[in-house]
Amino acid sequence: MAFDILTLHLVLTIHLFLAAALLPVLMGRRPGQAARWAQASMAAQALGWALMIVSSRGAERVLSSLAIAGMACSLFFMQRALAQWLGRRPLQGLMKLACVAGPLVYALGFDHYAFRVAWANGWIALQMVLLCLATLGSERPTGKAWRVLICVCMFAMAVVTAWRGVLGGFYTELYPVFDAPHPVNIASALLLNVTLVMITVALLVAWHEEAEAKLHELAITDGLTGLLNRRAWQERATTLFADAQRHGHGLVLLMIDLDHFKLINDRLGHEAGDHALQLVARVLKATVRSADLVGRYGGEEFCVLLTHTDATSALAFDQRLRKALATAVQAELDTPLDYSAGLAALRLADTSIAALLKRSDEALYAAKQAGRGRLEIARE
Ligand code: GH3
Ligand code: MG
Ligand code: MG
Repeated sequence: MAFDILTLHLVLTIHLFLAAALLPVLMGRRPGQAARWAQASMAAQALGWALMIVSSRGAERVLSSLAIAGMACSLFFMQRALAQWLGRRPLQGLMKLACVAGPLVYALGFDHYAFRVAWANGWIALQMVLLCLATLGSERPTGKAWRVLICVCMFAMAVVTAWRGVLGGFYTELYPVFDAPHPVNIASALLLNVTLVMITVALLVAWHEEAEAKLHELAITDGLTGLLNRRAWQERATTLFADAQRHGHGLVLLMIDLDHFKLINDRLGHEAGDHALQLVARVLKATVRSADLVGRYGGEEFCVLLTHTDATSALAFDQRLRKALATAVQAELDTPLDYSAGLAALRLADTSIAALLKRSDEALYAAKQAGRGRLEIARE
């Protein structure tokens, strides 16, 4: 089968522009930082290829240098997208360097054909390998399939690009120009067309995964305080309860209710009330250990599940919390704010988290009855 290389390049460029135009449409108005980098990557790639095609018609030094810059930036942007989705990626500095050194030295050494072909293709192949590395491992829970897809595509492209670089640089007589119907050019153009489709799909999957994670985050978070909402807290508390029972660890539930909170709203307004709730949440988050579970249980009620803990340590926690809250309230609020708390420790006879909730609620009621601003321990 005979392939016309210019047609292949034109089709590729049209595909790239289509993908660059469609990604923003499909991803919507606020797709997130990562998706924006992915879109920028596709646009830079499209521009790079358009410039490369035009450069063979005139002003070659300037246009092909800009084309190399577009391609180098495209790969850099893709690494940024992956860093947003997966956490910090290795060798980000080297990727940046490639965007500057690649096109700049290419332009300066343009008159030396073998050098410029080896240089430009060498850097781009290296960037593609860096992208392969960038798909490995993730700091966040993410799917594997789309990362494997990008990795495989980038690796295949890196091989073909390095092949072109070596031919152009060291066996120049075997390699004419980039738009000649040489096997490496045909392989590269075909591969680019195929991998473009696969990478576009991978990017859409990654973006969709991110959108789903955001939705899940919204579903489990209380909008005002950023703490777990009641349902999510109960779900996780159920798991921690089962763990504590199975392994015989101590578990203490502290139910907290702010005292006379209605007065804050009445005197200072609802906004001040909201601010006070956010402050309490911040102090709670800063005071618990990472293994503990804190949630907003209702309007001005909070639940804290202290793991690997007995009632004595929970009392110490209550003291630390009161101190930290008093300091924060004095610094930030124009009104005093205190809380009552009910404490219940896990018993052998407890069959579910509901038992702990019931006893801590009763203890909380007793704390209110006894004058507020105190903690009561549920009876064993
Ligand atoms: P007590 O000491 O008996 O607990 O008195 P209290 O005023 O705290 O208790 P009550 O249950 O009568 O009132 C709770 C108040 O919390 C009433 C409600 O307006 C307020 N509240 C609940 N959720 C929010 C919220 O999201 N923002 C604000 N600003 N206020 C809230
Ligand atoms: Mg209440
Ligand atoms: Mg209250």
